[in-house]
Amino acid sequence: MCGIVAYIGHSNALPVLMDGLRRLEYRGYDSAGVAIFDGGQIHLRKSVGRIANLAEEIERNPVSGSIGISHTRWATHGAVTRENAHPHTDKSGRLHLVHNGVIENYQILRDQLIERGHVFHSQTDTEVLAHLVGEAFDRATSRNVASLVEALRQALRQVVGTYGISVVHADVADVIIGARRGSPLVLGIGKNEHFLASDVSAIVAYTRDVVYLNDYEIIALQAEGFEITTVSGNGADYQVSKVEYSADSVDKGHYPHYMLKEIHEQPNSVRDALRGRLCLEEATAKLGGLNMSNADLRSVDRIVLVGCGTAFHAALAGEYLIESLAHIPVECEFASEFRYRNIPLDRDTLVFVVSQSGETADTLAALRESQRKGHRTLGICNNVASTIARESDGGVYMHAGPEIGVAATKSFTSQLTIFALLGLLLGRIRHLSHGEGLEIIASMEKLPDLVARTLLLDAQIAAIAKKYAHSKSFLFMGRQAQFPIALEGALKLKEISYISSSGYPSAELKHGVIALITEEAPSIFIAPRDAVFEKNISNIEEVKARKGPVIAIGTEGDTALAKICDDVILIPDCPHYLTPILSVIPLQLLSYHIAVELGCDVDKPRNLAKSVTVE
Ligand code: GLU
Repeated sequence: MCGIVAYIGHSNALPVLMDGLRRLEYRGYDSAGVAIFDGGQIHLRKSVGRIANLAEEIERNPVSGSIGISHTRWATHGAVTRENAHPHTDKSGRLHLVHNGVIENYQILRDQLIERGHVFHSQTDTEVLAHLVGEAFDRATSRNVASLVEALRQALRQVVGTYGISVVHADVADVIIGARRGSPLVLGIGKNEHFLASDVSAIVAYTRDVVYLNDYEIIALQAEGFEITTVSGNGADYQVSKVEYSADSVDKGHYPHYMLKEIHEQPNSVRDALRGRLCLEEATAKLGGLNMSNADLRSVDRIVLVGCGTAFHAALAGEYLIESLAHIPVECEFASEFRYRNIPLDRDTLVFVVSQSGETADTLAALRESQRKGHRTLGICNNVASTIARESDGGVYMHAGPEIGVAATKSFTSQLTIFALLGLLLGRIRHLSHGEGLEIIASMEKLPDLVARTLLLDAQIAAIAKKYAHSKSFLFMGRQAQFPIALEGALKLKEISYISSSGYPSAELKHGVIALITEEAPSIFIAPRDAVFEKNISNIEEVKARKGPVIAIGTEGDTALAKICDDVILIPDCPHYLTPILSVIPLQLLSYHIAVELGCDVDKPRNLAKSVTVE
């Protein structure tokens, strides 16, 4: 959520900042701004809306200089207006600051600052930070890098909340200061130039050598070097890492949208989730990152899966998957509930937190709460350098590559693939025989090809999307492991098409939902050939009896669905525990094509942003 890019060096900062902002735009696109230092003064440019609007503003009013900070906002406090766009300035107008996160005690601080004569120009929580740092700096006896860093320290000791910050001051011409707590910041090391960004994708085109900052660290960047210290004033150790992916992998390629590109990447992302993790000799899965011996895993008698949004739906599908393969009770919790709920956790409960970005604020807080209670807590993340990846006691990486589309797609199927691996591993430690393990492995090895075959349905699904795109509401229904897929299908449609849609277990129809059935409200049934197929057929009949249009997702070779449904999409056959990995794909494509048909901005849906780093 929201993005920061900063540059200090000997080149023109503006192209670097604008390129980085465009790459981070999926994180927030309410407004954007830059502050560029030209050696004499700092020039501010801001605009509401997309980065393109800011680019136009700068074209009308050019700026250049070799030091600059920039921001793309996802508003938490204060409306989407130019005044609320970052950077914000202090009382002197010489300090400029951008911020990701939320300052929880901003109201008290703001009142105190107003009493001390500060005038506020925005409704944001962020502006208090600019005033606090500026005030502390104005009290300092010297005007140099050390006193600006010290001023930031003094300000940060007063705030409660989360922040990724970047600051420039016209009186200290050769430095950018940054700090983080709860909102990521990464330093990029170049040749006589440095970068600071909230996500590495913003700077990977310029350097692959990076340092991920930890909470409560402060960085002072200059063209020729940098220094990392802490909010409490100590020095900090750091490690330079190499970014694994290139700038190309964060481009759209020949696809019109990231979402479509990522949907079509799923044969590879599923393959990458499985890569090196299936062991034929032992007929099991190998997940070394769990940091747990077979004896440790044998003693697990309950699993809690924690996530938000799509990751929560993956967890729900994971519950079915792990329970059916490993016979271990699994419970799913919304991270936002788990962190405050004080759920009883026994000694032998294993907690997994699931987050694509590894930065989701609620999920990170859930991880910390679980660890605070002494629980071994593992992460399932895509971003290997993320806070969750670093703080968890072990886990499994998705290896799905960068996911830029705000509506998560490939991360979902990667998460399900990981749950299948976990089910196999835990099942083999318990009741599954060597032969059964081999059968499961054989099915899993076929998955990437089956995903590729499912994607061949794209054109058929686009035609179905055209037919139903103008419906006012949709219902999604499925049983067993297809119920979470119904929830996920409904979420995808809501997110990018803004059509009211909800998911239910098929049998819940009669308990209320059926009141919504009309000729204008299509139902989507996920009804593969499984043990509850006939039950789904009965539910479809109930909808048809009330003239509701039905689109069904069935299994290749099925002829029963076509007799009663308006449209049928047939996916390849596979064991029931793997079907959700295939059945979600038509739903991803359906929501994508409906959104395109309606002219919605697929990659930047209204009010949303990728990676929810605020609570
Ligand atoms: N809370 C700040 C605001 O609403 C920062 C939001 C963001 O992280 O973009 O302006």
